[in-house]
Amino acid sequence: MAWFKRKERKFKDPQKKTIPDGLWGKCPSCSEIIYKPELEKNLSVCHHCNHHFRVTPELYVNLLLDEKSKKKYFSNISSIDFLNFKAKKSYKDQIVDNKKKTNQSDAIQVFEGLINTHEVILGIMDFQFIAGSMGSVVGEIVSRSIVLAGKKNRPFILICSSGGARMQEGAISLMQLAKTSTQLAKFSKEGGLFIPILTDPTTGGVTASFGMLGDLILAEPGALIGFAGPRVIKQTIGQDLPKGFQRSEFLLQKGFIDHIVDRKNMKEKITTIISLLK
Ligand SMILES: [Zn+2]
Repeated sequence: MAWFKRKERKFKDPQKKTIPDGLWGKCPSCSEIIYKPELEKNLSVCHHCNHHFRVTPELYVNLLLDEKSKKKYFSNISSIDFLNFKAKKSYKDQIVDNKKKTNQSDAIQVFEGLINTHEVILGIMDFQFIAGSMGSVVGEIVSRSIVLAGKKNRPFILICSSGGARMQEGAISLMQLAKTSTQLAKFSKEGGLFIPILTDPTTGGVTASFGMLGDLILAEPGALIGFAGPRVIKQTIGQDLPKGFQRSEFLLQKGFIDHIVDRKNMKEKITTIISLLK
């Protein structure tokens, strides 16, 4: 038999202050608690450790293009589920859901605009749309952007962010590697300037094609860049991987990329490169 009993299960403190949801976050790199509005003001880069958070294409549009100079291209091309692919979810439903979520037709947006008065074609991949995967539509849009840049005699800047080829479209996705690479070879032969900017993460088929085919290859700090993931490589070679493996800094050291550029310096860096190379 109990000697005493609590009348109410919960103790309520009317003075207790609640923190509004969504205002605070934790940096995955340095574990500091971050006030989100401050983080956004700083282009979603951690004040403490310079960790570059993943951001939406809108941020890059506003960051890079001169005000009111933008014209959008190819936003009417959309994927279809030609293989009737079904995993956890059907690809058909995935397309519908991701269109709704991002308000875009696929994982890339392309603009014509000015970067410090230099005319450019700017493509931005969107990791939010089925992990920025490259299927027939992304490949086609990259391909058309290269042709457009060639026709208009403008540099083509492409902000990459991708989990790789889109498995829901099978071999057709893999063909995009050849298609975009062929267009780039032609563009380069005709004197075109192509600058990919690799952001976190750029992997699989994008690294294996246009991501690594730039005249100059830039990357944001700390971005994961690779073909296969570290776990697969470790299993294959049966060895531990070096520290920082597949991050921008490691790739710069090994000569795979040319520059690491902080988000806040990106516009100036591109401007300098275009001024020097155009
Ligand atoms: Zn941090």
